[in-house]
Amino acid sequence: SSSAPAPRVCVVGSGPAGFYTAQHILKHHNGAQVDIYEKLPVPFGLVRFGVAPDHPEVKNVINAFTQTARLERCAYYGNITVGRDVTVAELRQAYHAVVLSYGAEDNRVLGIPGENLSGVYSARAFVGWYNGLPENRDLKPDLSCETALIVGHGNVALDIARILLSPLSLLRKTDITDCSLAALACSKVKRVWLVGRRGPLQVAFTIKELREMINLPGARPVLNPADFTGLENAIKDAPRPRKRLTELMIKTALEKPGEKTVEVQAAATQAVAPREWGLKFQRSPQEVLPTADGRRVRGVRMALTHLEGSGDSAKAVPTGDVEELECGLVLSSIGYRSLPLDPSVPFNTQRGIIPNSSGRVEGVPGLYCSGWVKRGPTGVIITTMNDSFDTAQSVLEDLQVGVLDVSASREGFGAVGSILRSRGVHPVSFSDWEKIDAAEVARGKAAGKPREKIVDPQEMLQLIGH
Ligand code: FAD
Repeated sequence: SSSAPAPRVCVVGSGPAGFYTAQHILKHHNGAQVDIYEKLPVPFGLVRFGVAPDHPEVKNVINAFTQTARLERCAYYGNITVGRDVTVAELRQAYHAVVLSYGAEDNRVLGIPGENLSGVYSARAFVGWYNGLPENRDLKPDLSCETALIVGHGNVALDIARILLSPLSLLRKTDITDCSLAALACSKVKRVWLVGRRGPLQVAFTIKELREMINLPGARPVLNPADFTGLENAIKDAPRPRKRLTELMIKTALEKPGEKTVEVQAAATQAVAPREWGLKFQRSPQEVLPTADGRRVRGVRMALTHLEGSGDSAKAVPTGDVEELECGLVLSSIGYRSLPLDPSVPFNTQRGIIPNSSGRVEGVPGLYCSGWVKRGPTGVIITTMNDSFDTAQSVLEDLQVGVLDVSASREGFGAVGSILRSRGVHPVSFSDWEKIDAAEVARGKAAGKPREKIVDPQEMLQLIGH
């Protein structure tokens, strides 16, 4: 009824999960107020800090998120780390419902000797570096070697390979940070191997990203035809995306340089391409090998594997044989990982998720989750959208049937704001962000880039007079 207090909902994290959850609740409940809290001063999570700079079209979702943030019943509070500046318990006191959408801020580790040698980086850190994530801005990856090895066969691995091998002229027009562009300009890397434990039928990347890599100007694909024998048959009844992806790999493996039927011109230039990349299958990294002085990486020893079972559930089992591959740069791209936020929130350490059903956190009424922290760090933005709508639906249902008691009003940011003030924490509003945004766009303009990201949070805060 109109006299009932407005439900106040709090969302933690401003990535796709946070924004899609907020959007769905606001759209389907015309009284709800949704406040989004974000750790960084700037919004949008991995859309800003994960999605590759040369994929600007993927970032168009930012337009929809911006519309949501500008709604009167929505507020954005950046520069607030939940769990440190304000606790989940304090948020639950102030809001009728709290949705945790804080993503996956850590990475899985290989867990092998030599992993900490200089020249070994996690994909997460490397991606954060070229995308201007504040915590990775000083990574300074050493690109003075000719061969890089990426562990992993997913889209993030392909993103990294593409960034390492792309002509500078292509990257220069993107929102890649100035500092990483300068480092890539001096890069000696001309060969990139992508290594996976399993076979071609188990790769996790998708066809669009593979095709982009195959067509990358100045870089030649090197695939071993022997890796693909018999696969034509094996994929006869496979789902269509898997089938097409495998067919593209087979076609590329069998093609001799210069033999391409389409894009003859491109093929001709690729035959003499100064750079190359390839996929290596059924190899499981055992040890990162050090240089003689013990300080840097000089290669990786890998166990050869055979597959037990088939399809997605195939398991890689070491055959006993090993192989060493020389490289001066190792990037491990074997997945992101969520961390527990607060001892009061249940967390399944093994699966790296908050245990939930349809986004309702197990055993904690009024607490919800969405996105990567709900289902694990896989899936594209659309997957995250659907999953967030599902969580939002749970919140709406619980509001409707009275599981969430809205008879008593909650203060929302009124209460949280005082807590933050008492702790000397200054939130960044959405219009503050729009000032930072405008400054970035202006800085990029001179260089012909869509934006030049500000990578220092202090500088962001200064810009808005904090
Ligand atoms: P995130 O996007 O990580 O958002 C979580 C947010 O929570 C972050 O802003 C974070 O700062 C904030 N946060 C964390 N901790 C706290 C805290 N304690 N308090 C407050 N806030 C906090 N998908 C595509 O569709 N196309 C692509 O091209 C694509 N490229 C990708 C490239 C990379 C390298 C990666 C890693 C992913 C890519 N994805 C892509 C997948 C897509 O980014 C994810 O599906 C999506 O971002 C997950 O959304 P999320 O909101 O759960 O997490």
